[in-house]
Amino acid sequence: MSAGFEPFRIIIVGGGIAGLAAAIGLRSVGRKITVLEQSSQHKEIGAAISLQPNATKILEKWGLGPLLERKGGMPDKGFKMFSTDGTLKASIPFSRETYGADRVLYHRVDLLDALKEAATTEDGPGEPASIVLSSRVIGCDTSNATVTLVDGTSFSGDLIIGADGIHSKLRKLVTGSDTGAVPTGTSAYRIIVPTSQLIANPGISSFIDLKAPWTSMIMGHDRRVIMGPCREGKLFSMVCLVPDEFMNEKSSTDSWTSEGSTEKLLQSFESFPEWLKEIFRAAPSLGLWQLRDIQPLKTWVKDRVILIGDAAHAMLPTQGQGASQSVEDAEALQEFFSDIHSGPSAAEVNARLEMVFKCRYERVTLIQGYSRQQAGPATTENGQKITMNTLEFSDYNCGYEGAKKWLSTSSVGTTV
Ligand SMILES: Cc1cc2nc3c(=O)[nH]c(=O)nc-3n(C[C@H](O)[C@H](O)[C@H](O)COP(=O)(O)OP(=O)(O)OC[C@H]3O[C@@H](n4cnc5c(N)ncnc54)[C@H](O)[C@@H]3O)c2cc1C
Repeated sequence: MSAGFEPFRIIIVGGGIAGLAAAIGLRSVGRKITVLEQSSQHKEIGAAISLQPNATKILEKWGLGPLLERKGGMPDKGFKMFSTDGTLKASIPFSRETYGADRVLYHRVDLLDALKEAATTEDGPGEPASIVLSSRVIGCDTSNATVTLVDGTSFSGDLIIGADGIHSKLRKLVTGSDTGAVPTGTSAYRIIVPTSQLIANPGISSFIDLKAPWTSMIMGHDRRVIMGPCREGKLFSMVCLVPDEFMNEKSSTDSWTSEGSTEKLLQSFESFPEWLKEIFRAAPSLGLWQLRDIQPLKTWVKDRVILIGDAAHAMLPTQGQGASQSVEDAEALQEFFSDIHSGPSAAEVNARLEMVFKCRYERVTLIQGYSRQQAGPATTENGQKITMNTLEFSDYNCGYEGAKKWLSTSSVGTTV
């Protein structure tokens, strides 16, 4: 940085996928990035997550391909659809060529570790981001771009990014009101099992290839199981969705750590195949919680503060787009601030944040809506008409080409 220039100070509240992706995208000369993370351990939960081609494209553009592969990311070969009697009904292969990038399966811990490394390595552009743990933000003065921690410490910047998840503290301060996380009528069991434990059981391994990187689904009328390997096939992960009213136990509203019972899970999936129930029985533990999203917000921006990720647009996991949309948010921030390398004026920051919002809002709101729609029953009450199609929105979701492309085709024009 040249003498006499003030650095562009960026404060990110929350070190999840959205916050870290923003730190990576915004790293550049003349910038000082601080990530404030409330937890002391900064660990993700033990579960799998998939990033869709729209997000993979951005991570590859940032040069993270080799790092993510080293951390155990597995390109997904496609969907395998099973009926509830356990018969394989269809295989729908994915091709990297379709959207220009892979859908990739990760263990959440590995993905978070990779993003942390990319945000903080000396090798990246500009100064490495600094992650300050045990820093729980409880207040934000949007006009002064200052946040306050629970211990009274304050941090001031030129730009504040609220990436503090579905239970965001910053949301109300930005939007003026907050209806909070809304129950969506669905609860989820999350299971992760060492693959070696399952392969030894022919009652499982003769029905499903546990190590092959495919996403398998069993779709019942109002409940479904989505499963596949992660961490180079060493672990097998499942998410089992059940309507709340049919839950045989009470799920947690906001925690990943609430324990479910195998017996009750077996009751909920009684009519599903025996080999699936064998996997349930082998699970060392069951996470259980009620799925929530938020209503589309009127704005994500106030003064020099913007909300991104689940803080701005938490959505149901039915299209696996929550984290991928967070990565898209980060890419939009990168694009609209690309020419700012020293302390900008408040008006300049606000104008660019409004552009990020314009670029992202319509797309994310549509995907939030699709995700809700897909959580509905797969068949009508009489069991005949299929009302949802897993691939229906694929082109829209995965064909995204980033903020620059949006700007070139949008009526908003090129002025920022
Ligand atoms: C069952 C399920 C399955 C899913 N599967 C997929 C999938 O396959 N693919 C996909 O793309 N998405 C999936 N998602 C969604 C995805 O996990 C989220 O959209 C994504 O993790 C959002 O990231 P985030 O950083 O916005 O929020 P979070 O991951 O919640 O991170 C927020 C961070 O902020 C910190 N924080 C919170 N409050 C404060 C505070 N006051 N001060 C400081 N720090 C704070 C938290 O500790 C946390 O580290 C799934 C979600 C669920 C529920």
